[in-house]
Amino acid sequence: MSRKPQTPELVGLARLLEGRKLFLLDMDGTLYLGDTLFPFAAGFLQAIRDSGASYLFLTNNSSKGTDAYVEKLTRLGIPASPGDFFTSTDAACSHLRTHYRGRRIYALGTESFKAQLRREGFPVTDRVEEDVDCLLMGYDTELTYQKLIDASVLLGRGVEYLATNPDWVCPTAFGYVPDCGSIAQALEHATGRLPRFLGKPEPEIALLAMEKAGVKPGETVLVGDRIYTDILCGKRAGAATILVFSGETTPEVCRQSATQPDFAVENAGYIQKAMEYARNRGN
Ligand SMILES: [Mg+2]
Repeated sequence: MSRKPQTPELVGLARLLEGRKLFLLDMDGTLYLGDTLFPFAAGFLQAIRDSGASYLFLTNNSSKGTDAYVEKLTRLGIPASPGDFFTSTDAACSHLRTHYRGRRIYALGTESFKAQLRREGFPVTDRVEEDVDCLLMGYDTELTYQKLIDASVLLGRGVEYLATNPDWVCPTAFGYVPDCGSIAQALEHATGRLPRFLGKPEPEIALLAMEKAGVKPGETVLVGDRIYTDILCGKRAGAATILVFSGETTPEVCRQSATQPDFAVENAGYIQKAMEYARNRGN
């Protein structure tokens, strides 16, 4: 049977994907941009399912609950359920469960962030109370100056300090707005303290997602559009990494980066091609 000759990249990528049971997928810049779904997104997800692997959407954004993401993906044409996601809030919950069980937590974040923490059974407050011994900060799109004062009081007391994600900015329709990392910077200027971050690029979020899926790092591949969060997180967690140029990173930025992905491709549609190539080769 004659086959079209394949480029070495496609063959190499297919080889990298062999035996991968879990795809950890960044969303914005990888599957869609803002409110526009990439044309290859649905086919890419289908190809993962067809290969017998599974995927989890991995997001640093702790301002929205999983329900908001389910609604967004479904509206864009990708049916999803809450179990398809692993967020930096999920990572924070896992971390708190291990290290802070029973301790009083001041949650600096959106109402949906606090609601998830309460649903998971954590004693959360949004007032400066005597028995608070941990400050957990999320990406708070409902931030008030009072919350910054509360945080400064608590940090001055020396409470434990955790934050969901180190991103400085979040992209919006008109440009960037301050994200959790920038709020942390403001508090650092005021108090001299920086939090322990739990989201990407820390490996914890990816490792906890693998634990949820019951797979090992060697069976996992992380796909994302940011080198300094997605790719760094995947590498630190021991997974294979694929950078896509459909979002924030340009090939020039990638060339100059100290962190290098295992593969860099134009978009996730190319990964789908590699999976189809592997499947046809196996037939
Ligand atoms: Mg992204």
